[in-house]
Amino acid sequence: MREYLKFYIDGQWVDPVEAKSADVINPATEQAAGRISLGSVADVDKAVAAARKAFPAWSTTTREERLDVLRAIQVEYAKRQSDLADAIMEEMGAPSALAHGFHVGLGAGHLQTAIEVLEKFAFEEVRGATVIRHEPIGVCGLITPWNWPMNQTCVKVFPALATGCTMILKPPQLASLSAHILGEILDAAGVPAGVFNLIQGSGAVIGSALSKHEDVDMISFTGSEPVGVQIQKDAADTVKRVGLELGGKSAWIVLDDEKLAEGVSGATAGMMGNSGQTCSAGSRLVVPRRRLDEVIEVAAAAANGVTVGDPKGNFAMGPVVSKSQYNIIQEYIQKGLDEGAQLIAGGLGRPDGLDTGWYVRPTVFVGTNDMVIAREEIFGPVLVIIPYDDADDAVAIANDSPFGLGGYISGTDTALIQSIARRLRTGAIWINGGFDFHAPFGGYKRSGNGREWGDYGFREYLEIKSMMGFPA
Ligand code: NAP
Ligand code: MG
Repeated sequence: MREYLKFYIDGQWVDPVEAKSADVINPATEQAAGRISLGSVADVDKAVAAARKAFPAWSTTTREERLDVLRAIQVEYAKRQSDLADAIMEEMGAPSALAHGFHVGLGAGHLQTAIEVLEKFAFEEVRGATVIRHEPIGVCGLITPWNWPMNQTCVKVFPALATGCTMILKPPQLASLSAHILGEILDAAGVPAGVFNLIQGSGAVIGSALSKHEDVDMISFTGSEPVGVQIQKDAADTVKRVGLELGGKSAWIVLDDEKLAEGVSGATAGMMGNSGQTCSAGSRLVVPRRRLDEVIEVAAAAANGVTVGDPKGNFAMGPVVSKSQYNIIQEYIQKGLDEGAQLIAGGLGRPDGLDTGWYVRPTVFVGTNDMVIAREEIFGPVLVIIPYDDADDAVAIANDSPFGLGGYISGTDTALIQSIARRLRTGAIWINGGFDFHAPFGGYKRSGNGREWGDYGFREYLEIKSMMGFPA
């Protein structure tokens, strides 16, 4: 049982102003894995004051000084990778291979990327007699979700550090253990006091206090759409910048060619990864209608082949994060049945033999794009197959969504792939497994307004100053 009751404020691990704590439940065992403190507005005020005090010095450090700090963090992060993976397994149920692999690896990837970008980033641009300067925006509130805990925190913390901002991280209650270890990593690396602060607690208290705070200049939020809307409202009175990375209902378009089976099985297995709890998951599988029988056979086999069980064992999929997430997913599966979608794999209830832990059956429906299960983000291992008639129809289906986070295309016809990719109204498109840490990530429409990852991620944390008639 981990006791992570202190907050990290002004370079010290300190007690919360008021003693109040809560258990962090392991979704595989339904038992407490740890205990954290729940902070109050008084803790937020202390942390914001520390970040404000640290800003003048940190914002005027040189590129090299900040690179030294980031490289020191890299050394400490490498030492704690295994601890981080264990914490992620305990707090949100990621299978061991995934936790030690992608979960921890994505955090390390964003750290390495921040270093590479900082090495070359142009903080000043000269245009004749005008010099345009990119300066750190100030004190940032970073509010993150539980589904990819290291990815979501590292994609904010390292660009914020690299650009010279100071910050208060408010991790999710459900995945607060790994965030505490990240705090220990930054402390061990010698990040100057007040530059990075960590407070645990509820979003309604801590997140909202940060969003409303007079002395916070910017909020970077990743999470659900309703909370994103609330944060914008809370931030409006102080005219803060708000970066939002919200939900999705991304389409995976499989082209009608000899690689169809490969695309369908990859998309189906991909959907079940991280128990379907990925904002950019390809949760609508858009397939050629004339080959629907073949698609159903391949997708059902792929879903049935996804092994589910104890995160410490050798299974492809662990539980979902919590009882409440389990219940929401069950309601969506019931909704799919009620609205007449054809169930071809999985379904209601836990997988056979798993009576403890919030395990969901890898589930696949064939449906239409107007069904609730095709329009709303389920955030669980539930895939909806939607048939298309031709490429124009596939694009229309993909774009007919309130969200616009991601898109996927698998197939071989280069010209067709290019044309479809150009027409999709989403912030990111992954083609035949393409992946790039330096490519901007974020959403169109209800999926948000920010762009993280790589150099675009730096811009979230920078103000722009024009100096005209600047002496040469
Ligand atoms: P969530 O419920 O919106 O919570 C996200 C964070 O916001 C948590 O730290 C939460 O604190 C906090 N929060 C809650 N209410 C708040 C308020 N009134 N003011 C400020 N902060 C508040 O989301 P989630 O359930 O953790 O994560 C799932 C969602 O995240 C999905 O919709 C998913 O698509 C989205 N997501 C998006 C991306 C992306 O990059 N676009 C990536 C991953 C996930 P608590 O700990 O108290 O809940
Ligand atoms: Mg939530």
